[in-house]
Amino acid sequence: MPRVLTPAERLFITRMPKAELHVHIEGSVRPETLLELGRHYGIDYPFADLAGVRDWFRFRDFPHFIEVYIAIKQALRSVDDYARITCEMAEDAARQGLHYLEVIFGPAVPGLAGATAQADVILAGLRDGARDARQRHGVQMQFICDPVRGRSPEAVLALARWCVDNLGDGLVGFGLGGVEVGHPPDLYADAFDLARRGGARLTLHAGETVGPESVWAALAVGSERIGHGVRSIEDPRLVAELAARQIVLEVSPTSNICLGVYPDYAAHPFRALHEAGVPVTVNSDDPPMFNTTLTDEYCVLAEQFDFTLDDLAAFSLRAVNAAFLPDDERTALAGRFQGEIDALRAELSPTRETVGG
Ligand SMILES: [Zn+2]
Repeated sequence: MPRVLTPAERLFITRMPKAELHVHIEGSVRPETLLELGRHYGIDYPFADLAGVRDWFRFRDFPHFIEVYIAIKQALRSVDDYARITCEMAEDAARQGLHYLEVIFGPAVPGLAGATAQADVILAGLRDGARDARQRHGVQMQFICDPVRGRSPEAVLALARWCVDNLGDGLVGFGLGGVEVGHPPDLYADAFDLARRGGARLTLHAGETVGPESVWAALAVGSERIGHGVRSIEDPRLVAELAARQIVLEVSPTSNICLGVYPDYAAHPFRALHEAGVPVTVNSDDPPMFNTTLTDEYCVLAEQFDFTLDDLAAFSLRAVNAAFLPDDERTALAGRFQGEIDALRAELSPTRETVGG
């Protein structure tokens, strides 16, 4: 049975410092911004007002999800568009006590005409937005390039090369999202090899719609963390490997349920992975599309998986410790988190018996 949070618990979760390791820029666009950009570019969207776009955004099924994703990308064309949505994302994040985000973006392949913005345009916008975000909202953002499954190995290799050539100033990593079925990581082994040797940090989506073999393959190409990875639970040997090597999973419970990986929270393996010693973190993936936020996901951990507030604070610190930051910056950020968590505990101490764990 799900637990009902007390107001004090909810307050603690809302104000707890947070870091997000797995969130997509395109999937985080505010509905009102999409409406405005769509009008600006004269795009013929199947909605005419904010209520319409909110309704259209809401997750229905996987084909609709892809349709929405493609339609969003159509409205993101200029450096300013990307700078705007990056800064808005930071504003939404700051409201939830989020201090640090690693944001995934899916660019067009350099040199190839496509429906989506070119990598250079996107990166310039992300960097502008991140600078603004830091100044105006005190939020630090870094970025992970996702070449998206389904492209040719040559195209993914070209993006890996682009990524290595542009590393720094916020660009830290190379990943792999998109449709997992039929597109195993080893198909793109050369690209990951090039990215890794060039200094990009690697985190691939795996073990979401495909089983453990996908996670094994992601590890084989050097993935340092795993996006989702929840279906690792189906292979005890893999679970033991993830625990022994302390490979962090970027888990998004609500996304998994919306996309039908599990029928409900009761069937979700978050707690089972945690108890097996796998370092799990919680993430929002595409928050407005799944009608969630990172704060909501932490609430889900308490309500549906019966984690204590101390557990939640530990998950938050774990996300910081798994961040693709230089050691000194990561240590400093973890220290800041610990200080804020301690201060929050002290502030809420009169209700410590009810909020503690
Ligand atoms: Zn994702």
